[in-house]
Amino acid sequence: MGEDELVYADQIDGKKFRLVLIFDNYSERDYKNDFQEFVDYQKKLSLTGEKGETDFRFWENKISLTTDVDKKDFKFWEIKEFVPPFDFFKKKSVDYLGKAVASILRANPKIIVSDELNLEIKVIRIKERSYYIESHDDLMTPEYACYSGAGIWFMQAIAAPLFYFNRVDFSYITRFFLHELQHFADNMKGYLQFDSKYADKIKRFSKKKSAYCLNYLYTTIFNLREEGYPDFVMRKEVGKMEINMEGVREYNRNLELLIKLRLKKDAEELFEKKIGWENMTASGEYACGRVMCLTIAMYVAKIKLKPCKISVGKEVFSGHDFPELDKIMSTNKIIYVSDFSNDVLQNAAALIEPSLGFHFIKLYEEACNYLGISEKNRVMTRDRFVFLQRKAMDFAAKERAKRLKKSGFVNLG
Ligand SMILES: [Zn+2]
Repeated sequence: MGEDELVYADQIDGKKFRLVLIFDNYSERDYKNDFQEFVDYQKKLSLTGEKGETDFRFWENKISLTTDVDKKDFKFWEIKEFVPPFDFFKKKSVDYLGKAVASILRANPKIIVSDELNLEIKVIRIKERSYYIESHDDLMTPEYACYSGAGIWFMQAIAAPLFYFNRVDFSYITRFFLHELQHFADNMKGYLQFDSKYADKIKRFSKKKSAYCLNYLYTTIFNLREEGYPDFVMRKEVGKMEINMEGVREYNRNLELLIKLRLKKDAEELFEKKIGWENMTASGEYACGRVMCLTIAMYVAKIKLKPCKISVGKEVFSGHDFPELDKIMSTNKIIYVSDFSNDVLQNAAALIEPSLGFHFIKLYEEACNYLGISEKNRVMTRDRFVFLQRKAMDFAAKERAKRLKKSGFVNLG
């Protein structure tokens, strides 16, 4: 045991669950710096939040400001007495996160893949909220889920709302961790091994073809399942899920841009900002992968003749068969789907979880066929992927020929 850690312990379905927060690498000075950064961020009332909805902003959060605190008056945390003490921060972080994770595990007991689960989080200072959590996959076992987590996340999610408003937004915490724990379960069940085995092959291949974009093209195909499914699991807790057709189309437009980027630097930048984890909006791979999972759930509902609900603008459709679905997708930006029965969600999970990479795309295509969703309204298909891949290689080959010629060499094809 280290010097400074706090433990929350619980029993879930007769299994042991422990959350350990380790503060050995997080000094009071780090805490103060994080607090200052938190305050600076919260004072920028007009900030648009380029990272999307995952950043917690008090001024637009649903936490009702019950007392004397004016919603727009944030001066109060500049007063010394109104800084949550370090011990308060540590104690409340472990208590509330422990309770939140225990409730996730009770609702999703399959996440515990052994007789016990120890969730260990090393709290560290991560500047400029560049990320909130990082998993240490090489240290993970079915009994140990190991992460580094940003102190500032605990500040904004737990300590500050509790200290100032005497309330915590539990759903914000659970949604965040449900996503991470779904990765853990996927990983421990061996579902992601295929992806990681594939990654090296792809890297070599894209280098050989001198088209770095291929690397990211494959990555996003895998991420549609790898990130989309945890996102789906997390959102289904909220109830209503959206299909954002504009987002789906933009995702595809960005892939068209990606395949013209030969250099690592350019491909990486476009991928991270527009396609991958920095884009938490409807056009990112998380949201698009989630739409695919949602489509698979609708497919299961139709097979099982179990109703769900679709709402478009003010119109609401109930049932298990939606003959107009494709037309609705062609003519509307946002479609909401809700009211799946539990066994539909469970069956969808059983189909999605073991389906990786191209298997996931195939499953999604089956769902689209059954629901009558046409090619142009699909997030991705295997044919489209092959087409993009070929275009990327052709483009890279032409560029290479140009470079050869420019340097005085002959292109032999
Ligand atoms: Zn993730």
